[in-house]
Amino acid sequence: MRRGFLLDKSKVKKSAEQETKQESKPEINDVDPIVRPLRYGKVDYDNDLPRPKYNIAIDPVQGTIKSDRKTLILVTVPPRGSAAALNEDEHTEWITFEETKSRIFKTPGLPKPLPKPKGDTPLYEVKMTPNMGMGVFATRDISLGELVFAERPLLVAPINVNVLELSTPPDERYQKILLDEYEKIFEPAFDRMSKGNQTAYKALMNSHTEDGSGLLTGIARTNGYGVSALYDGPGPKATHHAQRYTVIGHVASRINHSCIANVDRSFDMAAFAFVFKAAVDIKAGEQLFISYCEAAASVADRQRELAPYGIVCKCRVCTNATPESDKFRQEYDRRTREYQVRNAALMSGADASWPNDKELNELQQVREMAIKEHLHNRTAYRYILGALFMGYAQRKMFAAAQEVMKLIEQNEAVFVGT
Ligand SMILES: [Zn+2]
Repeated sequence: MRRGFLLDKSKVKKSAEQETKQESKPEINDVDPIVRPLRYGKVDYDNDLPRPKYNIAIDPVQGTIKSDRKTLILVTVPPRGSAAALNEDEHTEWITFEETKSRIFKTPGLPKPLPKPKGDTPLYEVKMTPNMGMGVFATRDISLGELVFAERPLLVAPINVNVLELSTPPDERYQKILLDEYEKIFEPAFDRMSKGNQTAYKALMNSHTEDGSGLLTGIARTNGYGVSALYDGPGPKATHHAQRYTVIGHVASRINHSCIANVDRSFDMAAFAFVFKAAVDIKAGEQLFISYCEAAASVADRQRELAPYGIVCKCRVCTNATPESDKFRQEYDRRTREYQVRNAALMSGADASWPNDKELNELQQVREMAIKEHLHNRTAYRYILGALFMGYAQRKMFAAAQEVMKLIEQNEAVFVGT
């Protein structure tokens, strides 16, 4: 029997599905004095202010650069000429700091070749949709858990120009200056991309045309994803938003949003690549969707999070939202974390009472509601299943327990919890 679902405490909070698209803004409750939110929409600025000073250096590939918090380096991953890239487009340009590069480059196996899906023909095609611009569609039936594609990002950059210790005053008038400087940081990295990747990058959507963003940073702000394992600083994870990176993919950027996602995105650090797997069985011709927003949030919060992308989500979960469904979603993470803790207590022998009849009944209702709200394609769902498994096994309901165990194994195979 596999028991990881009951004992894995390290992955309680930040799992892959919680890495939503990254706007250049602080997270809620993320109090960070050096980060100011970048505005979107039509914004006017005073441009006549002093400019901050910083350096950009080229990664020497061999050896390291003496670097500080005012010196960014431009890195190509994998390095040009590496066997881990089959052609010139399979490289990422990364704007970072020396210490961050050194830490990430210690990842075992890096640089590893890109994972390849089964068969010779791509499992997806990019084409026009009737109402969402470009979209990505399945070219054949794809089974739950199957690799749809993996790709290296076109560009990885600091989430915000505030990553640099520039000592600019906390004054909104400086936003335009900072946006200009942010664009200037992107330009030399863009120049290092292959021609194919430059064309792909410039063809991506830009929903930041009126807020002072340049073209390259506007595209990054529209299309970038966060990757929890990519951050600056010595700790085991980012402690504030400004330490994080925005990761701009090619096909990844063409996948449209739905709260009812059918593919799951993770990041394979050794391959330095996005990995997209089927989160459900997908039929040939279906459009692929991921969620750009926090899944376990109310409909109002989700729409607010989607607004900078110019998206008004009309998925079934959004259109059918009620105060009850909102409440359920807002409590989902807390609830599943609690199940995880109680499952672990049961397994360790600290609490033999879980789940009692009333709790088992509640778990069944939570499971039904999670399916209805489409929250079952996430790591956290396995803690509901884990509790149900224990409840059924204790009551000698072996067929039900076995069925749930199968679902747990599927969940573990797809949602790696990275
Ligand atoms: Zn929706």
